[in-house]
Amino acid sequence: MHRATKIVATIGPASSDPEMLVRMIAAGVDVVRLNFSHGKAQDHIDRANLVRQAAAACGREVAIMADLQGPKIRIGKFENGKINLERDSKFILDANCELGNNAQVGLDYKDLPRDIRAGDVLLLNDGLIVLVVDHVSGSAIHTTVRIGGELSNNKGINRLGGGLSAPALTAKDMEDIKTAMSFQADYIAVSFPKSATDMMMARQLANIAGEAHKHKPQMIAKIERAEAIPLLQEILDASDGIMVARGDLAVEVGNAAVPALQKRMIKMARASNKLTITATQMMESMIVNAVPTRAEVSDVANAVLDGTDAVMTSAETASGKYPVETVEAMAAICLEAEKSDVVKLDADFLQATFTRIDQSIAYGALFTAYHLRVKAIVALTESGSTALWMSRHNIDMPIYALTPILGTQRKAALFRNVRTFELAHSIDREAVLKAAQDLLLAKGVVQKGDMIVVTWGEPMGQVGGTNALKIMKIGEY
Ligand code: PGA
Ligand code: MN
Repeated sequence: MHRATKIVATIGPASSDPEMLVRMIAAGVDVVRLNFSHGKAQDHIDRANLVRQAAAACGREVAIMADLQGPKIRIGKFENGKINLERDSKFILDANCELGNNAQVGLDYKDLPRDIRAGDVLLLNDGLIVLVVDHVSGSAIHTTVRIGGELSNNKGINRLGGGLSAPALTAKDMEDIKTAMSFQADYIAVSFPKSATDMMMARQLANIAGEAHKHKPQMIAKIERAEAIPLLQEILDASDGIMVARGDLAVEVGNAAVPALQKRMIKMARASNKLTITATQMMESMIVNAVPTRAEVSDVANAVLDGTDAVMTSAETASGKYPVETVEAMAAICLEAEKSDVVKLDADFLQATFTRIDQSIAYGALFTAYHLRVKAIVALTESGSTALWMSRHNIDMPIYALTPILGTQRKAALFRNVRTFELAHSIDREAVLKAAQDLLLAKGVVQKGDMIVVTWGEPMGQVGGTNALKIMKIGEY
């Protein structure tokens, strides 16, 4: 079965042994996310190696996404590990406090008090605890507890409405970029970018760190700050894709605003030829249960209907009890949702405007494929960009990206509706078309007599420059 929507799975303690990784990839994981908020550099290097081995054992190319921690602001530790905050009681966040107690706790971002004003609403632990600021004096933020509960060491802090000044790339992130480039991560996800400049800076650092391997990763902007929303277009232009990072975003903009934002972000990203990952709490209850809730099923299906490239798991697969079942359930929900008329065809590409020859061939392939009802669309591609353009529009037939380049195969693991196979390099057009036909036959995705649309660039074997399209009957060669 051809599943168009991709699955990004975060791995962690529950999913780091070789056998488990093989089972997860076999169940449908397309991209593995390494969460640099946890673990040491060597843990990530070891996991990346295990992922590459497991993917090879499954005979598939899986992309690796390194997700940087970013400037998440956290409280310090407590004498007893945790406290219980009572509603209406007073509590102080003090940058100079060493070890916290019932009255106060420290802060890892020492400049936070400078950004805070009386009346600000602070959300701790993903919004489970709400504090209202009474006043700030020096290093101490004095607050009243509006919603209390248990508060333990190192929980995150967000301000409702956003606007905290911590820079997007921390010293740790810069080190982590180097670690990620040592194993040639295909994607780097940047946490809390505030502007296009943050993304450009991260890309530059990643390209420099990747130079030794001639590797340039794809850059994903995690949209999780209120101030990123009005700058979405410029952030998209500076990135290869975005993550709808609903965890932190919900705390900053209010959770009720997130569903409509998700739809707008996915639409804008597709219109800008960029990728989207919909993330956080998609299958949350599967951390402890073997089946998802009805609401989670709807959430995953709705992300598919919105046009996301991928749905993502976090703790479900990193530390939950049912990593394989979670991936299986997601894959089944995606497949079913993709049968909906809502995502079978967008006619919008007829209205798209473009001036590039390669882009016009990509659109021409969609148009032709739709009208002739072919079996598949096939892009012979070096960089993968033809397949990316094709995949920005819903069409009810699979797109196959055939490429000699391993990195292109891996990055295309995230593209909606695109599957990739390796096709050896050649400059002989007739030989390449025959090899493409034989490969698709061998993979069992076409049969003799099927029609396909194929695109390529001439002269062959160069990056860029798709300028040819052929309607081909399998068995012709
Ligand atoms: P995180 O990002 O899991 O790294 O916090 C995703 C989100 O905030 O939704
Ligand atoms: Mn986040």
